[in-house]
Amino acid sequence: MLTISDLLAYDTSPFSIAHAAADMPAADMNEAKNEDEQPKLFETEPPPWELVDAEEIMSASIVFAEAPHGPFDYKVPGPLREHVQAGMRVHVPLGKRKQPLTGWCVETKVQTLRGPALRDVIDVVDSEPLCDAQLVQLVLWISHYYQTPAGVVFDTLVPSGVRAGAGTREQKLFTADPQSLDDRIVDALPPKQRSALRFLIAAAKPMTLAQWTVEAECTESPIRQLHRKGLVRIQTRRVMSHETHVARRIGGDESVKIETLSDEQTVALASVVAAIDSGKAKTLLLHGVTGSGKTEVYIRAIQHVVRFGRSAIVLVPEISLTPQTRARFECRFEGVAVLHSQMSPSERHFQWQRIRSGEVQVVVGPRSAVFAPLPRLGLIVIDEEHDGSFKQDTQPRYHARRVAHRRANLAGIPLLLGSATPSMESWHATRTGHAELIRMDHRIANRPMPNVQLVDLRQRDDRSRGAISRPLATAITQTLRDDGQVILLLNRRGFATTIQCPACGHVVACPECDLPLTHHRDGSKALCHYCDYTIATPPWCPACRFDGIRYGGLGTQRLEVEVKARFPETEIARMDSDTMRRPGSHQKVLSAFRSGEIRILLGTQMIAKGLDFPNVLLVGVINADSALHFPDFRAAERTFQLVTQVAGRTGRGDRGGQVIVQTFSPDHPAIIAASHHDFVGFADGEMIQRRKFNYPPLGSVARIIIRGPVEETTEAFAIKMMDSLEAARAKLGAEVRLLGPAPPPIAKLRGKFRFHILLQSTSNAVLGETIRRGTATLTTPAKDEIQYVIDIDPMDML
Ligand code: ADP
Ligand code: ZN
Repeated sequence: MLTISDLLAYDTSPFSIAHAAADMPAADMNEAKNEDEQPKLFETEPPPWELVDAEEIMSASIVFAEAPHGPFDYKVPGPLREHVQAGMRVHVPLGKRKQPLTGWCVETKVQTLRGPALRDVIDVVDSEPLCDAQLVQLVLWISHYYQTPAGVVFDTLVPSGVRAGAGTREQKLFTADPQSLDDRIVDALPPKQRSALRFLIAAAKPMTLAQWTVEAECTESPIRQLHRKGLVRIQTRRVMSHETHVARRIGGDESVKIETLSDEQTVALASVVAAIDSGKAKTLLLHGVTGSGKTEVYIRAIQHVVRFGRSAIVLVPEISLTPQTRARFECRFEGVAVLHSQMSPSERHFQWQRIRSGEVQVVVGPRSAVFAPLPRLGLIVIDEEHDGSFKQDTQPRYHARRVAHRRANLAGIPLLLGSATPSMESWHATRTGHAELIRMDHRIANRPMPNVQLVDLRQRDDRSRGAISRPLATAITQTLRDDGQVILLLNRRGFATTIQCPACGHVVACPECDLPLTHHRDGSKALCHYCDYTIATPPWCPACRFDGIRYGGLGTQRLEVEVKARFPETEIARMDSDTMRRPGSHQKVLSAFRSGEIRILLGTQMIAKGLDFPNVLLVGVINADSALHFPDFRAAERTFQLVTQVAGRTGRGDRGGQVIVQTFSPDHPAIIAASHHDFVGFADGEMIQRRKFNYPPLGSVARIIIRGPVEETTEAFAIKMMDSLEAARAKLGAEVRLLGPAPPPIAKLRGKFRFHILLQSTSNAVLGETIRRGTATLTTPAKDEIQYVIDIDPMDML
């Protein structure tokens, strides 16, 4: 029998392994979509095909969000031939569904068809492609690598505001009908109509009614007559309805011109320029200590690219946290598009159109900016490339670094990664010849790295006095006396991290997640940081009614109270996701800090990133261990990064700076290395640890999370999945280590029980294929019973 995949031989895609129809699961692996209907595609095929004689047709290969496989071929009927292109959406029938579905065209071809007839494309949604050929290739790669339906990837790539045409209106455009080329017809017209028509013909471009009446100096009435006589035609097209979105530039002292590069910057720039000029894909890692001037290297490299009429993408961790970075780009380039998470759909659409039209030279934004549809991309930069925010935690669970690497390869352009604390992945790439290492070991103007002092919290004799140890308190007092500013890092928000009854030991926990609730002082509420479940904080123990429940553990709100009590005369501000809800609030706090109005800035990792304030003379880390004891092989790496990055916020001016790190683990290699600003030492030691278990970057890891409302059936399905993966491994003869199923550290989340399976291998291709095969033969129960998520290269193990 002829299978679908025989018909769908799609040889240019990365779907190298054809799926036999029998292997195709009925399940939808798209966890995020709320479809009440399960796709019936594979149970109900074949569709009512008829056999026809060999026929030359145009066909379109279509992918869907609702079907994990594909692409599927459809016939493009004659009238649509001119209109269907790759990168556009179309309406087509799928399976036995009554309503047509929206799918994405990934390829069109003219083929001679023998055998079953194809079903027809019904109509075309877009008037022009939303993705160019390279982005279509990128989508197919992401779909394959991250095992996500290609339609879901398209929907991620093309913002919803663009798909919905947000912020657009219809515009009517007038053009002359071919009859009007005949002078005899034109000359027979009343004079007003004749002159209006001659004007339109001479203009040789479509015009709006307003343009035409103004430029031809006529009223609407002759135009109406011309239209009635069929001498002019009206076309409609969608245009942006307001052009008022042009991003507000945030100026400030960032416009300071940097005249000469440091020697290290000069050498670094030369390497990047050489890579750009080579016209080839290449990855470069700029490992530059905090304050070494990496941003200036990015800017000059981009200027080089722009000089040749090309453009660049700069990925940064959430841009609202780093208004300075944004300002630096905005004052150095004409066409900058800044993308951020607080944009409205129509704003996003507006920026997207600007980017696509070629008027934008530089796109600055978070991970999704890696998809910016720049027509002549010349360079991709990822600043703070180690940052966890570059991995998306919903489907498709892509990592922007990996996607950027792919895109750069497809485009044949360099990828420039920069960090003071490179990820182990990028570091390893420089050691294995996959990336070129560029080092900047010194700060600008040869400023020294700040001195870091460790305070051993185990030895502390003043513990009753709160979160701030004596040496830190003394240093704060001294800094304030010297007119300096202070940054204090505590990576837990809320007031108290546990609410516990001292009489019976009961801990107030989230009923949906079984995890302790955090007490928030504002509004006296207790909330779950995983699902936002919120209750009024109970005044007595809900279990034994004991009146005297205790708030344990330290969050930023409690720290704020303590700092205010100790330094009552001092203006302080707290930055965490609770105080930074409103758009623009980061900027407000940061500019008050810059002006010196705020003297002490305390907060979560938000304040650890990228800030450049020369008057910060002291950085205090309240508890360096907060990230250290997570059951995750990246715990040490994260701790090293956090401490090094926040330490790097001081000593950026001429007055030097110092760092005080409070810790219960002063002997931990990550903390020792961070206190010496010793990335290479840390990385060498860490690599030895990773090698022991073949953890990334030495091997690949994937994680499958299975969840459901009933613990037993969820576990039973997890075991079934494990069996299926084991069978796939055996069949492939693959060297893959399978672990689990087991409850992950967060064993219950939002009312669902969770199990996970970990897979490890030295080859990500083998790993991916094992999962693909292992899940393909598995029949998934109904969606409200069990869901599973495949996370390739997971960044968290919780
Ligand atoms: P990094 O990102 O490496 O931590 P930045 O790019 O923030 O460092 O640069 C640190 C500071 O040095 C900034 O204030 C920047 O304006 C300044 N700077 C960068 N390059 C030069 C230079 N060549 N001359 C003078 N100042 C510079
Ligand atoms: Zn919860």
